[in-house]
Amino acid sequence: MSRIHRIVCGGSNCYIIENGTSGILVDTGKKAFINKVIESCRHYKVRFIVLTHAHFDHAENAAQISSTLGIPIGMHENDCNLIKGNANQMLTASNILGKIVLWVSLREFASCDMPEFKPDVLLHNGDSLSAYGIHARIIALPGHTEGSIGLDVDNKYLLVGDALMNMFYPTVSMLYHNRDDMLESAARISSIGNRIIYFGHGKPVPNRQWVK
Ligand SMILES: [Zn+2]
Ligand SMILES: [Zn+2]
Repeated sequence: MSRIHRIVCGGSNCYIIENGTSGILVDTGKKAFINKVIESCRHYKVRFIVLTHAHFDHAENAAQISSTLGIPIGMHENDCNLIKGNANQMLTASNILGKIVLWVSLREFASCDMPEFKPDVLLHNGDSLSAYGIHARIIALPGHTEGSIGLDVDNKYLLVGDALMNMFYPTVSMLYHNRDDMLESAARISSIGNRIIYFGHGKPVPNRQWVK
């Protein structure tokens, strides 16, 4: 059985999934928190980095953690264009809170220079992570970004990146590259059933019917 450890990195989360013998780091946090994240990775014997998507608040430390610990990075190929620049996939928001979050995000995209990296493993819907010692599978959750993915762990926990958000309250993603895809991914999460949902932003909640 795996355990999920939430590592709060300012406004965003990264997670370690571990079972005592191996661990996977899901997202990497912002630069200011890199030492905290690396320390936790060492403690839980992390062997693999999975990026739920390549926005800098999730991927900024990927290159350095990968080289410091000598472990590979996995992500979906449809987010590779974000590694060169987070503005490469246009984002929109529908409600007022989303527009505020979008405004802050775009300012941060402009000032951030995320260290570039090349993913070692391209992850696809249905891929198993058992090669890294963890019973989890990848679920494609496009919409927030084209290459957003989630991780279904032990049929108990679902790590969703920014496919859903809990910044202010639990909701479908407040900003998205493609709204229809985002809503379809939210519906897919609902249909998975009984899970604890772990967000890229905010505290976990039980799964529910995610509707706009
Ligand atoms: Zn994001
Ligand atoms: Zn985010």
